[in-house]
Amino acid sequence: MRRPRSSEAFKEFSHVLKFRNSEKIVRKIEGNLGRVALIFPNSYTIASGSLAWSWVQTLLTERGLNVQRFFYENWFERFYSMEDQIPLDEFPLWLFTLQFENDLLNVADILVKKGIPISSFERQAYHPIIIFGGPVMLFNHELVDEIADFVFVGDLECCVDEFSEALRLDNKDDIIRHLLNINQIYSRKYGKLKFTNCIGNLSPVPVAHFITPFSPYKNKLLVEIGRGCIRRCAFCVTGYTKKPVKFASLDEVINVFEERKGYEYGLISATITDYPYLEGLLDYLESQNIKFSVSSMRADKIDKRLLMLLKNTDHHSFTIAPEGISQKMRDVMIKDLTTEQIIKTLELAREVGFKHVKFYYIIGLEEEDENDYAEFFEFLKMVVDMGYQEVVISVNPLVPKPFTPFADRKMVEKREYDEKTKFIRRNVPKKVRADFESYKLSRIQYELSHLKGPQTVDYLEQIIKIEK
Ligand code: SF4
Repeated sequence: MRRPRSSEAFKEFSHVLKFRNSEKIVRKIEGNLGRVALIFPNSYTIASGSLAWSWVQTLLTERGLNVQRFFYENWFERFYSMEDQIPLDEFPLWLFTLQFENDLLNVADILVKKGIPISSFERQAYHPIIIFGGPVMLFNHELVDEIADFVFVGDLECCVDEFSEALRLDNKDDIIRHLLNINQIYSRKYGKLKFTNCIGNLSPVPVAHFITPFSPYKNKLLVEIGRGCIRRCAFCVTGYTKKPVKFASLDEVINVFEERKGYEYGLISATITDYPYLEGLLDYLESQNIKFSVSSMRADKIDKRLLMLLKNTDHHSFTIAPEGISQKMRDVMIKDLTTEQIIKTLELAREVGFKHVKFYYIIGLEEEDENDYAEFFEFLKMVVDMGYQEVVISVNPLVPKPFTPFADRKMVEKREYDEKTKFIRRNVPKKVRADFESYKLSRIQYELSHLKGPQTVDYLEQIIKIEK
């Protein structure tokens, strides 16, 4: 740890230290080879709610590497590591985990602040080696392939030994040579365009090594029990790209709980209710009185027992994602969820004592008409009449994504989205709070998800110019 001299740097240093001190370490991991920066280009709250940030560090540290975590704030200048508060520019290897396309704006900000050209082709031998991984690589690895020196596609578990061996080498040319031999890695800069994808099999079960009250899961230990999704909702890349779907075995998941007694857990899976061993898992959690939250669940599979167990973990609120504002729109989106199923879940949730409910919706599809909106408002009125004290709707514009059935659709224009959001605001029952996703950020996500190689660099440079 090196104390900064200027007050600005000290403020940044203290901010990082505050989060570091908030972490309770569940399993101590240490490595001393090399110096690897694992950068989650978003706030600490978002980073700590992502198991990837902790799990990638665990996998590499277990193999001897000195991996330190970084997160992002737009006012940061130095970027101190979580572990030893070392400035980012003292690290020769930078791994970015890209969970959302828009985080690329933050990546560009980091590079510019550190005086590093955004295009890998303009960088020099003294610049760090920059590697990108994360879910975005599964559906648009070309988005970053001009920025990255190397793009890592798929899950680290599949080749973590080879990858660690490369990163622990001293000489930059040796590292590059070794990275180019890894099947899951490709590099436009170094002319290696062939790669193979691989999805890890969740054995061992990924578990976080720390808990923090600042995570969206609030002091719960994250455990991944499923990766990918068996569904194929038409707007969602997860259902089309993270295949084959993998689930952790029940025995191994139970072992995790047995080895780490006394914690509450955040169970991570695209939809927890599709976990094939859910009954056995709930039997165990109930018998051991273990409290838990879930990352996401589907209304068609939620039963009373699951709701009661969730309620026991201080839950006042639960969330459903009908996505479509009417049955017709859910069918268009291949959501495979009926109004009756949603109502049944809402009734069960009231029975077990939930008072707050949040819904996620997507609007801005060409099939929408006034009948869909009439059905939407009627449904919300019915929810209020059920006695929920707080009803929140989170409304997002459709962001058509590559590799999905909506890939060729155009995104709704701003004027139309604004009209629709005004109309919703005017017509939802008084007790319903409507939150709307920013059109600007959704538009950036849409544009980024269709960019490739040099286009991304031009796009980011444009945005940086406008924001200056
Ligand atoms: S929206 Fe949810 S249920 Fe549908 S494919 Fe995506 S992750 Fe699966």
